[in-house]
Amino acid sequence: MVVHDAGRDLVTRGEAGPLLGWSVSELKRWMLAEPGWPPPVRKDGKALLYDLAELLTVRERLHPRRVRHWTEQEDAVLCDLELTAQEVADCIDRTVVAVKTRRSKLEVVRYRHPIHDQWLLAKTCIVCGVLRQRDEFLIAGRLQRRVSTCSTCWPALLAERAAVVQARTARSAGHHGAEWTGPEIEIVLRPDLTAEEVAAMLGRTYNAVVTARWKAKHLPAWIERFHL
Ligand SMILES: [Zn+2]
Repeated sequence: MVVHDAGRDLVTRGEAGPLLGWSVSELKRWMLAEPGWPPPVRKDGKALLYDLAELLTVRERLHPRRVRHWTEQEDAVLCDLELTAQEVADCIDRTVVAVKTRRSKLEVVRYRHPIHDQWLLAKTCIVCGVLRQRDEFLIAGRLQRRVSTCSTCWPALLAERAAVVQARTARSAGHHGAEWTGPEIEIVLRPDLTAEEVAAMLGRTYNAVVTARWKAKHLPAWIERFHL
């Protein structure tokens, strides 16, 4: 933390390093090796504090910064994706950090990562075991993920799963066959509940809930009856 003191900015040596463009150990090395660095102006607790402006002046005198602008030729080498950052650095006499910084600034990416399954070409269906094109697998479910079952096997699998859930909910479907009421339809339409959850809450079967949801979506006249 920079301390403001009578118009001066006081910093520890650890804080000064990055502000001077060096690592902490580099600054320490230079301060020990070279005469002419300013002495600390204050001691706060255990840390010695230096006047930042004095440090910057001395740094400029002892190690004047030469900014090398990037040339078109250097950028051309940089954009060669066959080369690692180290190889580019060796070619054009720059540091690896400088090369990486420049590459990220120019958005030159060596290894691009796929977004979801954009690179997927084909996969094997877990039901029929056939290797099929990517587009033969639907994107489904709340998470909008690509399913592992091909679109040929998918309807049968869905029917099988629905039959299992239907059998499970049928056991507790005490209201089966009764007229739907407005409060029930409100629960049916809740997007945070699965059809099975709704069925269990209302004592209906899974199929009844799925049908009610379908009607609510496709038959405006039917849903109007409940005055929601
Ligand atoms: Zn299949």
